[in-house]
Amino acid sequence: MVALPLRNKFRGVLEREILLFEGPNGWAEWSPFVEYSDEESAVWLAAAIEFAYGDIAPANRTEISVNATLPALAADQVAAVLARYGKFETVKIKVAEPGQNLQADIDRINAVIENYPDVKIRLDANGGFDVSTALKLAEYVHEAGIKFDYFEQPVKTIAEMAELKLKLSPLGIKIAADESVRKVSDPLAVAQAGAADILVLKVAPLGGINRALQIAAEAGLPVVVSSALDSSVGLSMGAHLAAALPNLEFDCGLATGALLVGDVARTPIKPVDGKISVGRVEVDPAKLDLFEAEDHRIDWWVERLERAYAHLV
Ligand SMILES: [Mg+2]
Repeated sequence: MVALPLRNKFRGVLEREILLFEGPNGWAEWSPFVEYSDEESAVWLAAAIEFAYGDIAPANRTEISVNATLPALAADQVAAVLARYGKFETVKIKVAEPGQNLQADIDRINAVIENYPDVKIRLDANGGFDVSTALKLAEYVHEAGIKFDYFEQPVKTIAEMAELKLKLSPLGIKIAADESVRKVSDPLAVAQAGAADILVLKVAPLGGINRALQIAAEAGLPVVVSSALDSSVGLSMGAHLAAALPNLEFDCGLATGALLVGDVARTPIKPVDGKISVGRVEVDPAKLDLFEAEDHRIDWWVERLERAYAHLV
């Protein structure tokens, strides 16, 4: 069990707690966010068990193109954070952060474009806007002539997504569903409602690589594979899914290793020229020691593991 220090606050925390284990296939990561219920955490556990022990569809790519990810930081911090990603063609910018206003989002977007004029941007609101605010921001980006890859989960509900999609489609702006895929009982509902152009697939919340491949096939929409601020072990699971997909037209959100101060892998998964390589990672025992969590946190995670496992059997 490790607590990996983060460079900047992400989801309000400065540390990422992760439980790691090794099976015959290699290392797996179990890292549902601490506020998640046992039931939801059990789905993440099923994914980790599959990756360590299961029979998984083979990877048929050796590298994956990835985007840079920019947390909801102040504009003057943008250049330093993005510099850690090296070369990239696409940047995902977090917007709609609680406690911030629309101007903070616009300032952050402009800071990205000042530093990287040719980059494609994605906005990710985590469902935090209402339809009219999302529309206002999308129109701003559109009118500024910025290359707009897509708008990820601009609003919360499938009905709002559908309403916004009707308004953005004429502008040529695509909507990607993230929380509408992984935080609902039916991950295909958003696709069936015609409320998204793209699905964001995250292996752990969907219960594993095989299940995610099945959802991609049934949805019939382009997909993007993303991570949830994972260690290199979790990133290797996302990279495997991306490498196993029949089609992959968008850069994947698997470069988030740049947001960690430390990692557990001997060779951490970090982008080189906008790409990461596919394959199992080797965990460094010295790093497990270095980042080992405090005893009371280990106890908490082991108890949580027992409760989550009970949901699977
Ligand atoms: Mg998202």
